[in-house]
Amino acid sequence: MKEIKQEEFEKELQLHENLVLDFYSTECPPCEALAPKFESLAELYGGDIQFVKMFRQGNRELANKFGVMSSPTLLFFKNGELTGDTLSGGVRRSDIMRNLDALLPADRVKDIHSQIKPITTDTEVLVLGAGPGGMAAAIYLAQAKVDTLLVDPMLPGGQVSTTHQVSNYPGFIEPQPGYMLAHYMAEQTKAAGATFKVAVEINKVDLIKKEVLIDGYETIRAKKILISTGASPRYLNVEGEKELHGKGISYCATCDAKYFHDKEVVIIGGGNTAVEESEFISKFASKITIVQQLPTLTANKTAQERAFADPKINILYEYEPRGFYRQGDKMMVKVEDLHTGKQKELVTDGVFVFVGMKPNLDQISDPIDKDDWGYIKVDDEMRTSIPGVYAVGDVISKKVRQITTAVGDGTIASIALTKELSAEG
Ligand SMILES: Cc1cc2nc3c(=O)[nH]c(=O)nc-3n(C[C@H](O)[C@H](O)[C@H](O)COP(=O)(O)OP(=O)(O)OC[C@H]3O[C@@H](n4cnc5c(N)ncnc54)[C@H](O)[C@@H]3O)c2cc1C
Repeated sequence: MKEIKQEEFEKELQLHENLVLDFYSTECPPCEALAPKFESLAELYGGDIQFVKMFRQGNRELANKFGVMSSPTLLFFKNGELTGDTLSGGVRRSDIMRNLDALLPADRVKDIHSQIKPITTDTEVLVLGAGPGGMAAAIYLAQAKVDTLLVDPMLPGGQVSTTHQVSNYPGFIEPQPGYMLAHYMAEQTKAAGATFKVAVEINKVDLIKKEVLIDGYETIRAKKILISTGASPRYLNVEGEKELHGKGISYCATCDAKYFHDKEVVIIGGGNTAVEESEFISKFASKITIVQQLPTLTANKTAQERAFADPKINILYEYEPRGFYRQGDKMMVKVEDLHTGKQKELVTDGVFVFVGMKPNLDQISDPIDKDDWGYIKVDDEMRTSIPGVYAVGDVISKKVRQITTAVGDGTIASIALTKELSAEG
């Protein structure tokens, strides 16, 4: 991989019709995740496209010229002009390929794609999902000298990465920003000797054969699989929700509350997440309306008391959302009075939806025992109904879904897995 300085960039642009530039930093986990993908694509496309990388902090002028604010950031150039997407954060191989392909004629793309050779990677335990449950298991497994590989379509950390503050995870006196706790967990997992393949595409999961296809060409073959894919926010499935997701409707306060400084916000839901997150959003917003379908909030007492004491928070009890649409720069929320059936409209700047979670099992089609809500059933050592397949964390059927309980499940599963593997020799 050719490393260049900003002074050499113009010359490279003149010399090469097609060029991709990676702004990287040191001590940057997403850069580490990108490096092997970038290297392998350089081998594949290197005859047609010049691959270069540049240390962002040492070449700030050029980075600023292109508005590059984070590492890694990939920029694509054709005939000296910036083109395609600006890719940053957890960059997927398929997104890089789409942008590289766009630089080349279709027949050449076909040629290059035909050279992609499928590869197989073997591991003892494949951990599907690098959240706290998966990482805790991986730490124990790796420390017990079990070959452990974690795969995740995102960067490590799971829901913790997008949690504003975590104040109930033992070991930290002060509340920790979620992304820092996630970072510590990932670094500890790496230090223990586990391997990560993150920001990958999960194409196929075969729990019976214990094979997982990632990025369209790499099959990971394992002796055992641990499912720790966690849970995701539930959608309301009402009119306009899908269309306005990310354009006024958010499911993550940590990610989006900052955009509502001095603005009005509607929060849908009245449980723990809705009420706790309203407290965080209140740091930014000028007014919050909580829309709750029940006659009371169902969050814990302390959170409720804080919400009642916050003059910015109003609560609309026994109303349900029926639809969302935009009017100019305002968001309109259609809500229905559950007593009278009458509808009215709330005018606001943004909406946060916190109405519960669902297990992340879309890619798992093998028949595995689940509870009525779709969460995986496990025994007291985290074994599922499929031999050699374990599950931990928010994806399993259980009463309390917290970081500590996910980590506890991971610990239990890892010890049972280690024993099972050594019994099999
Ligand atoms: C807003 C919010 C605030 C919270 N605050 C707290 C708190 O203060 N304290 C606390 O203890 N808990 C808190 N929680 C709950 C806590 O974050 C979860 O209980 C915990 O993260 C569960 O860990 P997990 O490893 O089971 O799953 P997750 O954290 O959900 O991680 C699952 C991982 O699996 C990956 N994945 C998904 N699908 C696949 C697939 N097909 N293949 C491979 N990987 C996949 C995901 O990308 C993710 O990285 C909060 C949750 C939310 C949403």
